[in-house]
Amino acid sequence: MHSAYRSSYISELTPDMDGKEVLLGGWVHEVRNIGKIVFMILRDHTGTVQVVGKEGTVKAEVIRSMDLPKESVVCVHGVVKQSSESKSGIEIIPTGIENLNPLSAQIPFEVTGKVPADMDVRLDNRHIDLRRLDTTSVFSIQSTVLSSFREAMLKSGLEEIRTPAIVEAATEGGADLFRVEYFEKAAYLAQSPQLYKQLAVIGGMDRVFMVVPVFRAEKHNTVFHLNEITQMDAEIGFSDHHDAISLLKKTIKGILSNVAEERQGDLKRLGVDMGEPKIKEITYRKAVSALNSEGNEIKFGEDLSRDAEIKLCKLFGDLLVVKEYPKKIRAFYSMPNGSDSETCNSFDLLYRGLEISSGAQRIHLPDLLVSSIKEHGLDPSNFDFYVNAFRQGAPPHAGWSLGLERLTMQITGMKNIRECCLFPRDRVRLKP
Ligand code: ATP
Ligand code: MG
Repeated sequence: MHSAYRSSYISELTPDMDGKEVLLGGWVHEVRNIGKIVFMILRDHTGTVQVVGKEGTVKAEVIRSMDLPKESVVCVHGVVKQSSESKSGIEIIPTGIENLNPLSAQIPFEVTGKVPADMDVRLDNRHIDLRRLDTTSVFSIQSTVLSSFREAMLKSGLEEIRTPAIVEAATEGGADLFRVEYFEKAAYLAQSPQLYKQLAVIGGMDRVFMVVPVFRAEKHNTVFHLNEITQMDAEIGFSDHHDAISLLKKTIKGILSNVAEERQGDLKRLGVDMGEPKIKEITYRKAVSALNSEGNEIKFGEDLSRDAEIKLCKLFGDLLVVKEYPKKIRAFYSMPNGSDSETCNSFDLLYRGLEISSGAQRIHLPDLLVSSIKEHGLDPSNFDFYVNAFRQGAPPHAGWSLGLERLTMQITGMKNIRECCLFPRDRVRLKP
C-alpha cells in the first residue's frame, strides 16, 4: 500500500523482490544489538520483518540510528534481500532510518506479548493494544463481518436505512434504558431499532437492513454483555419467520465463508478453524426434550441457559436455529404460532454455544397486538403510536437482529466480548 511514508506493507514483501529498494513505515518491535550486527524487528499491522545492520555492509551511522527504543515509529529506507534464515524468506538491508516521532512517554505494556498484560490495562490503552497483531486480527475479521453482512443484504434485495439513536419511549417496554436530557424533555437511547425498521417495511420499503449502535442499561457485568453494542438488523415485508430464518441462514453462511476466504492470515494467527458452516434447525420443544434426555433439566417455558445453549450446539452442531419459543418468554410483538397456541413464530441463532441472533415474525394485526401487550403485563396506552401504525395497511413481516460483537467473539474464539469491541462500554468503562 503506497503512501507518502511507505512503498509497501510488510506482508507485501516477497523473496522475488530481491535487490529492490523499499520504504517501510512501522514500529520498532524489538532491537537486538550483538556487537557487529544490529537486528531490528520492524512491525506494521500486516506483520514483521527483520532489518539487519551489519558492519561493513551498512554505514556505521545507519547502524547507530537503529538502536531505538521499542515502539518508536519509523520509516526504514532499505533494500530487500533474500534470506534463507528468516521465516518470511527476506530481510531488509537498511540505507536510512528516520525516527518519525521520538517517544516522549512510556509504553504501558509489552506489545511483543512476552509479558502478559492485564485486560483493563490493554483496554485503557487500546491504541497500544492494537499494535499487538492478535488484536488487529480480531478487528480485521470484524471489518470483513461488516462488509460481508452488507454484501449479503444487498444481494438479497434489502436496502440500507438509518434509524435514530435518541427515542422518546422504549420499544420493548422494558427497563434497561439510558435516560438522556433532550432539551426540556426526557428521552432515551434506543435499545433496538425494532419499531423503526418495522415502520420502514410497512411504509412500503419492503426489505430493509441497518447497522446500528444500541444501548442497554443492563446492570449485570458478564463476558457476553456490553452496554453499547452494534446490531446488524434485517426486516422483510410479506414474510413469516421461515422467510426470516432462510435469510438469516444465507446471511450467516455468506459472512462466515467470506471470513474464511479473505482472512486466512488473521484466522491462522488466532488459531481459528472455521470449519464448514452447516446450519441445523430445531423447535424449542425439541430442544427442551433433547436437553432433558441428556440430563440438563429444563421445563417448557424456561429460557435456555448458557449451559443449555452450549449443550444444544454439542448435540446438533455449531450453527443452530432454535425456533418457536413459548410466547411468554419472547417480546410481545412476536406472532403467535398458528399450529401451537403456547408458542410464537420466534427464533434464535446459536453459534458455538452462544446466542448471536434473535428474530421473529411480528404481529401486524392491531387487535392481536393489543391483547399480546396485555398478556405480557404491559399497558397498551404506552404503545399507541406503535399499535396505530398497524391500523393503516400493514402487511405481515418478519426480521432479526445479529449482534456484531457476539458474532466476532464466536468466530475469533475470544473468551470475553470486550476483546471484540474496539472501545467497549460496560458497567464501569466509559473511557477511552
Ligand atoms: P441475551 O439474552 O443473550 O442477553 P437478548 O436476547 O437480550 O440477549 P436481543 O434483544 O435478542 O438480545 O438482541 C439481539 C442480539 O444482539 C443478540 O442475539 C446478541 O447477539 C446481541 N446482544 C443483545 N444484547 C447484548 C449485550 N448486552 N451485549 C452484547 N450483545 C448483545
Ligand atoms: Mg435474544
